[in-house]
Amino acid sequence: MPSKNYTHQQHFLLSAKARSLSIPQIAEWDEETVFKAFRDMRWTKTGGEPYCPKCGSVDHYFSQGRRQWRCKDCGHTFSVTSGTWLHSTNLPLKTVLIAIALLADEAKGISACQLMRYLDVQYKTAFTLYHKLRSALLATRYDQPAMKGEVQADGAYINPYARPANKAEDRPHGNRKSSMPETCILVLRQAGDKGDGAFRTLTYVIDTENAEDVRYHVEDNVQAGSTIVSDEHPAYGDLEVNFERVVVNHSVCYCGPAGENTNQAESFFARFRRMFKGQIHKASREYLGLYANEVAYREDTRRWDNGRIAFDMMRRMLTLEEESPFRGYWSRTKVKPAVATDDEPAGLAAAA
Ligand SMILES: [Zn+2]
Repeated sequence: MPSKNYTHQQHFLLSAKARSLSIPQIAEWDEETVFKAFRDMRWTKTGGEPYCPKCGSVDHYFSQGRRQWRCKDCGHTFSVTSGTWLHSTNLPLKTVLIAIALLADEAKGISACQLMRYLDVQYKTAFTLYHKLRSALLATRYDQPAMKGEVQADGAYINPYARPANKAEDRPHGNRKSSMPETCILVLRQAGDKGDGAFRTLTYVIDTENAEDVRYHVEDNVQAGSTIVSDEHPAYGDLEVNFERVVVNHSVCYCGPAGENTNQAESFFARFRRMFKGQIHKASREYLGLYANEVAYREDTRRWDNGRIAFDMMRRMLTLEEESPFRGYWSRTKVKPAVATDDEPAGLAAAA
């Protein structure tokens, strides 16, 4: 009897296909190649052909020396980053590209402190660049239609960092770590058709895993009539009205008789916790959503080659029309940025 023929399938990340862009490769690019890459990413609709950000005209003069265009119709002068989230960056374009390629490759993210050393730039520069990128990923996450089919929903509690008060009487939660205020991350993951994991992930930061918030986010993002798979937590009970609800009773089993499970949601949290513990260390609640969405993006693009991920990240930063929430972040001197100071010691701790 012939033995069963086992074919060894190589993991995608180990294949040559997964590596389409490397740091040595970018380092060898001349200025013209980098400039063309930025043009292609910014003006995707016109195949890299620039148009005036002010009036939309495609008639312009080009100054090769300054690498700037001057609009023939309105006289506006613009560069490849003018009006984008990289508008005020002092970094050379190649350095920005290297920073993004590094982040695309790092499965558990990179801290601002680490990037500071990689690029030999100031901490503020590294912090702002990556937070702009994370914000761009968040701002562009609705570039697909509402979720449908089978969607797994789950929540997990994370301790955002809150600096304890110096005096014991000023600490409302006492010294016990378990009594520190927690924050819940709600995750929605649309399962793939062929049982090959989830392919779309949305995350939300909420106070507690409660019915009102769960219902709001699920109804906002999932087509009515779809199947929601969750554990037995009562926060998901209300969803029975508009959705098919499948409950996996975790006190009995993690996978029901028909194969129903919330493994994709659980796997998101496993990855998030690794990134949180290993790289971020602590973050204020304000930025938890950025980090959660970064993990969601990584999950959803896990089968892309690294060049596609890096260029997709860049494109998202270069094509947003609204203003970046991190523009001029460090020059807002009057108000002490609570979050920046929270993140700073974490980065510095990692440097030690
Ligand atoms: Zn113009």
